[in-house]
Amino acid sequence: MTRKLENLEISAEDTFRTALASLNATGGEILLVLDSDGRLLRTVTDGDIRRQLLGGFSLEDRVGSLPKKEPVTAPEDVEPGSALEIMDESGVDQLVVVTEDGKPLSIILRRDLSTRILLSTPHLGDEEMQFVKQAFATNWIAPLGPHVDAFEEELADYLDLGSVAAVSSGTAAIHLALRILGIDRGDVVLCSTLTFVGSLNPVLYERATPVLIDSEPESWNMSPVALERALKDCTKRGLRPKAAIIVNLYGQSADFAPLRKLCDAYGVSVIEDAAESLGATYKGAKSGTFGDLGILSFNGNKIITTSGGGAIVSNSSQYIDKARFLATQAKDPAPYYQHSEIGFNYRMSNVLAGIGRGQLRVLDDRVRARRNVFDRYDEGLRDVEAIRWMPEASYGRSTRWLSVGTIDPGYGIPDDLLRSLAADQIEGRRVWKPMHQQPLCREFAYYAHDEGSSCSDDLFERGFCLPSGSNLRVDQQEKIIRSIRSHFLGRREARG
Ligand SMILES: *Cc1c(COP(=O)(O)O)cnc(C)c1O
Repeated sequence: MTRKLENLEISAEDTFRTALASLNATGGEILLVLDSDGRLLRTVTDGDIRRQLLGGFSLEDRVGSLPKKEPVTAPEDVEPGSALEIMDESGVDQLVVVTEDGKPLSIILRRDLSTRILLSTPHLGDEEMQFVKQAFATNWIAPLGPHVDAFEEELADYLDLGSVAAVSSGTAAIHLALRILGIDRGDVVLCSTLTFVGSLNPVLYERATPVLIDSEPESWNMSPVALERALKDCTKRGLRPKAAIIVNLYGQSADFAPLRKLCDAYGVSVIEDAAESLGATYKGAKSGTFGDLGILSFNGNKIITTSGGGAIVSNSSQYIDKARFLATQAKDPAPYYQHSEIGFNYRMSNVLAGIGRGQLRVLDDRVRARRNVFDRYDEGLRDVEAIRWMPEASYGRSTRWLSVGTIDPGYGIPDDLLRSLAADQIEGRRVWKPMHQQPLCREFAYYAHDEGSSCSDDLFERGFCLPSGSNLRVDQQEKIIRSIRSHFLGRREARG
């Protein structure tokens, strides 16, 4: 992880000529300027010297003539994560590790740190750059443009669905869906409790009242049993829920047949939060198409990305026309700027839609790759009794966006596993903390799957997510599997 300091050390008395020769000889990008006691005064890069020469200095001038610059350093016991933070804050790619009295010990390079295995990283294909270049070449940098139109059409084609509007995020898409359905202050919205906060926040933007619904153990998604109890209870109390936001968790569709049946019976509109399930199917049809409105996310960690973005989808072109209207500041059809409704600036930019068009072409490959990642975990950890995977419900096909499991009681807690992984430079995560446990949601009602016990609480207590990117290499995954085996089985049996 670190680089030796031999030949990188110079003094303020050395000339630029000597410094450049040292840079050349070492092939390094920086030199360390030390004082007579061996303490670090500053670092010097090729660029520092070039700027000084352009400013009128000569090769025979001394390094000491450079303008003062505090070196970016870290203490001896710095952890990789903090080292990366320091580099990010200072905008540098190298970090000098120094002793307590300021003497350099080693240099950490950013590119070596990035060997850390991350949970889910962007995976670009071959065509994204072409589309982005096209946007630049034609000066369609502005919001909207031909890539946005084409991305929307291609997404509609993929989903086999009427209409799509590309927007700035999945969260924005949910917000628009709520506005389109006329959700207002105090309206009850039924929400999956086991989810990312992005699916709930828009309900709070509108000062509506979330009622939180538990998961069922078969799919980890919204429990029809809990939903029915919530609907009956609301009716008893004279409340009429207007909408339900049903989340498809970690790449797997919720069981929409019973959920929709209940919502239809009670006159509740359905928003399908398919941010995590693009590419999955439910009873043969594409995930995202089972609500009155569906939403997608193209955030950087999702199965395909536009760096940041989302979409709102529906079979109702009226809904999607309304989404486009609201997402572009709700400008009335008048020859001047006239507005009768609150609008938003929520559209996707043409540049990012270009990335999306490229990503959509490789979506099916990405689904296959993520499912392969899951299969390798399943295979490599088959004899680890402690682990149980998120089940794949028989009604559909999950993308396994994330490989997620639980630890059986008696085998320790997820935080211990995540600590072992972190020590091996592997990023794991806990399962989402249910919304009804969030300080943000203290005052909202919650309906559990079983009245006595809560499924989502149990999944949160015992659940963990493993690196699952479609660009995860087999050797990286073997390292993760070894790390998990040694956590549960001990070093000796880890090789299995
Ligand atoms: C990512 C995500 C969102 C939000 O999408 P953004 O594009 O990040 O705003 C909403 N719901 C779920 C379930 C998500 O995973």
